[in-house]
Parts: sequence; structure tokens; C-alpha cells
Amino acid sequence: MLAPMNSLLLTGGRVVDPANRFDSPADVLIIDGKISAVGKNLSAPKSIEPFDAMGKIVCPGLIDLHVHLREPGQTAKENLATGTAAAMRGGFTSVVCMPNTVPAIDTAGTVALIRERAEREGVVNVFVTGAITKNIAGEELAPIGGLKHAGIVAITDDGHCIQNNELMRHACEYAKMFGLPVMDHCQDYSLVTEGVMHEGYWSTVLGLRGWPAAGEEVIVARNILLAELTGAKIHCQHLSAAGSVALLREAKKRGVPISGEACPHHFVLTDAAVAGSEKFWNADGKGLAKFQGGELPEWPKYDTNFKMNPPLRSARDREAIQEGLADGTIEILCSDHAPHCDYEKEVEFDYAPFGITGLETELALSLMQLVHTKRISLADMIAKFTVNPARLLNLNKGTLSAGADADVTVFDPDCEWIFRREDSASKSRNSPFFGWKLKGKAAATIVAGKLVWAERNESVAV
Ligand SMILES: [Zn+2]
Repeated sequence: MLAPMNSLLLTGGRVVDPANRFDSPADVLIIDGKISAVGKNLSAPKSIEPFDAMGKIVCPGLIDLHVHLREPGQTAKENLATGTAAAMRGGFTSVVCMPNTVPAIDTAGTVALIRERAEREGVVNVFVTGAITKNIAGEELAPIGGLKHAGIVAITDDGHCIQNNELMRHACEYAKMFGLPVMDHCQDYSLVTEGVMHEGYWSTVLGLRGWPAAGEEVIVARNILLAELTGAKIHCQHLSAAGSVALLREAKKRGVPISGEACPHHFVLTDAAVAGSEKFWNADGKGLAKFQGGELPEWPKYDTNFKMNPPLRSARDREAIQEGLADGTIEILCSDHAPHCDYEKEVEFDYAPFGITGLETELALSLMQLVHTKRISLADMIAKFTVNPARLLNLNKGTLSAGADADVTVFDPDCEWIFRREDSASKSRNSPFFGWKLKGKAAATIVAGKLVWAERNESVAV
């Protein structure tokens, strides 16, 4: 008899499936790429390979809904193969790529191109977003209906923000008509102007132009009003400011269809890091320094791996983001994985592009800063990486229900390791976390029943 394809029996792990409120030691049986059963002491035909998950967490495949894969046009930074390899190593079975490419993903043809290429070269699932406006120029709407037919899961001008509120209103109306969420990079250009870091104490000390928190908050408030007016689902990307969390909290209480996401760098680091490692570890990084042990990771001041958009903010903002994650105001975690070449980042702080890589560190940093600190439960963190993004984007993912696609992540929440530059699978090396001791690591990544990566043998079966 032929062995069933893409079948596995995961044994002995702690299965956490927030969509089904399931958290218990159990086996997971996968047959032909689908979840067949979850339960104790499952038996399977001898031909099905067992996978020992003892001591590990077994959960629905993690989804990162905010990733820059840089195709088409910017493949010196990243491509579909390297970006999805980084996702796989980070424990992610699905990524959602942003449309600010060259050209922008603003036509059905480009969506089709990326989907075909991802099918061929990607090692995890790739979902595509379309631009809200043509060429992400903020002036004229992209053909949203055509993009939807081509298979996009959301619209966004990420990297940019539509300043014209009437245009944004129309985008919301079309998005609602086509059942698409609008994901927005919240940045008011007239307030932010040429800002390169958080406007506050450190921007003054360092003599860098400030990007005030209000530059984000104004657009979050605008989005709340437009979501209420149009009934469209608006999702605020990479929230960084305390005021944004407060606005979102109040709006959600009123039932406005608004949501938000947070990235690890905004709830781990602060603007003090731009002043160099010593300043960070001695002030806002004190709590984190203890875990790092004797030798603290070092970096100089003006290190461009601490330049991102929106910028790292104050300790108060960092605390507010954690609070928002804890009370459910922010229901999604993601990386904003934004690869850039060394030569692009190795310039003066003012001139460097915004963004850092994140797919390989986000699980560990979320565990460290949110779960190990008892800020949120393990199940809650997993929900923010699985069922919550799946619901927002209407993806048929994010659960281990029988019959679901067998996308599964196995991770060790307590594994201590050091993130090394040479170990990254991304094509780019712009991470602020190289040399950091981290706690929590993916052990295996399973996509549609296929073990695409496992920690022990580094095997890639694609
Ligand atoms: Zn953005």
C-alpha cells in the first residue's frame, strides 16, 4: 500500500488551538495535508511518519500579516524564496506580502504574477495585498474590484498613507463593497514632515528630526471616524503610540469596525536605543539586560538598524502597546519584516531607509516580552498570530479543526538561543537583534501536512 502523502502524526505535545479553546496534551494526526484528528493516544497507519513533539507547543501555523517580500523589483533586498525561508525558520506557515514594490502591486496582472511565483518558489503560503491607490501615490484609486478578483486579501498603501480623507472614504466604500479590509499605515505627512525618529528627549539630545506620536494618532482617529461612517473594516498597522491605543480602545467599546497590530520592536525597544546600547541597557532596557546575562549586545549611537517607520517610541508608549495587547485592544501580532541591503543601511541616520527584518525573531520576542512576563497568556499570544489575523483577512486558516489545512507550528517556548547574523535566512541583515539572547524558538514548520523545516536536522523538504 502506498503511504499517504503529506501525512504526519505529531505526538506528545501540548496542543494550543485558541480558535477551538483547546489547550491540552494531545496528538495531532494529519492525513493528505488536512487535520484528521486531535486527541489523546491517537493511532495511525504504520506508514504515517511520527513526529515527537514532547515538551513542545503544537499550534495552528503562525500567520504574519505584515511582511515585505520585495517582489517584484527589489530582489536585491529579498525575494519570495528567501523571504518565505525566513518565515519558515521563524515558525510561520503563512505570510501576507505588502504591495509597495517596484512596480507596486496595483493591477490584477501583478497580483497574478506574485501568486504564481509564490506557488513555485515560496516554501510557505503567501497571501497578497493590493495597493489602495495607483502606484501608492495617494491620488487615484487602484482597480480594487479587479484586484479582489485576482485574489488579494486586503488593500493597503503601506509605507505610505492616503492624506486626502475624501479619497480614503471612497477607498473604504469600495473595500466594503468587495468585502476587503483596509490596512493603513498611519502617518500624517504635515505633522511628520522629514522626521526620522520619535520626537522627544532623545531626538533633541541626538539632534535628529522628530516624528511626533501625534502624526500617527491623528490618522488613527481619522480611520476610526471613517470606519464608523462607511462600515468598512479598517486595520491600523504597526501601532507605536500610547494615544493610538487609547483611541482604539474607546472606539472598539462603541463597536466601530477597527482593529490594530503591534510589532515586537515597538514593545521591546525604545527611542533610547538610537543613542546606543549603553544608554538603552542603563535605562529603558534594564529589565531586558538581566536576561541577557553578562555580555550585553552592543551597538553604536545612530545605528540605522534602529530606524523604522513608525519609529521606536518612549518607554511610556512601549508600556501602552503592551497594555493594549494585554486587554485585547490590539488583537494581532506581526513583524513588519522590511529587508534592506547593507549598502542602503550603511549611511547617515537621516538617509537610511526605514525598516528592519523580523520574521525570525518575532516569536521569541513576543514570548519573552508578553508571555514569559505573564503579561498575556500563551493561548492569547497564539491567537494573535493565528485565528485573529485569519479572521480579519477571511483566510481559511488559523485553526486545528478537523478538515482544516494542516498548517502547524511546533515550538519550544523555553529554548534559549542567540540570534546570529550568519544564521539568518533572509537576504538582508538589517536586524537590531543580532547577538541577543532570546527565549523561545520554532522547532518545526508544517505547511499543508508537509514538514518544510525542523530544528534538529535543518531539513528542508520542498
Ligand atoms: Zn508601514
